[in-house]
Amino acid sequence: MTTPLAIITGGAQGIGRATVELLLTEGWRVAALDRDPEAVAELDEAHASAPLLAMAVDVSDELQVQEAFTHINGWQQEHGKADGFDLLVNNAGLADPECGPLETLALADWRRWQESHLTGAFLCTRAAIPGLRQRHGAIVNIASTRALQSEPHCESYAAAKGGLLAMTHALAVSLGPEIRVNAICPGWIETGPWQKAAKRTHPEHRDIDRAQHPVGRVGEPQDVAATVAFLASDKAGFITGQHISVDGGMTRKMIYAE
Ligand code: NAD
Repeated sequence: MTTPLAIITGGAQGIGRATVELLLTEGWRVAALDRDPEAVAELDEAHASAPLLAMAVDVSDELQVQEAFTHINGWQQEHGKADGFDLLVNNAGLADPECGPLETLALADWRRWQESHLTGAFLCTRAAIPGLRQRHGAIVNIASTRALQSEPHCESYAAAKGGLLAMTHALAVSLGPEIRVNAICPGWIETGPWQKAAKRTHPEHRDIDRAQHPVGRVGEPQDVAATVAFLASDKAGFITGQHISVDGGMTRKMIYAE
């Protein structure tokens, strides 16, 4: 049987890194693309003997994405692996949702969110489609519960994530039946312990942080990684064009003040 191959953007830290590590333990070959070279080097070093190709790539840059996919194909050939991809996870992007009040938001800053989340997903998806078609693979887009609900001053992030949800159902309709396309909307996921060494933190959460979640805790990157693995598997073979909130139930809670 062919060893499955996953391409994960933003794979060197946070949710992306947890997804890389889960898929490696489940027997996948993984190509991780991340624009932070220091984090990429740390990921590479931590998995020196694993079937992992870790690359410093800005997914919003057309040429860098093209070169990365050429590199992935070369890596597969070098190891005698068949052509094609089984999974693309569009996870990379500016994770900080706050862009400040819209009336003072610079166009360049608006574009930073759109470029990293939406343009990055467009470029990587475009590059991956032929390989995904070959193996009847899947795409998982990492959106956010902020595509569905808001705090103030998150317009650029919310628009990018809402765009990603719309792109998910559009792609599902265009790319079926060969390729399934779904999205995950994470809620509050604590990524401090999953950052590169220079940025790593281990925040203590307050009782109220845990208690406000119907499941009684804040999320972990592994919660999202496990959902990616499910959506990529045959168990999810009848699911496409959908989004799943991985948020401990927060988007199902009414929060009118008493
Ligand atoms: P993170 O900052 O821990 O990791 C994101 C990674 O993406 C980083 O390693 C960063 O270098 C990389 N990246 C950013 N822009 C890139 C680009 N243009 N090209 C290549 N790599 C790039 O963030 P995270 O919290 O793990 O978030 C991952 C995804 O999940 C993001 O899309 C984020 O919006 C989404 N999300 C996170 C949360 C949360 O609570 N952590 C909630 C909802 C959605």
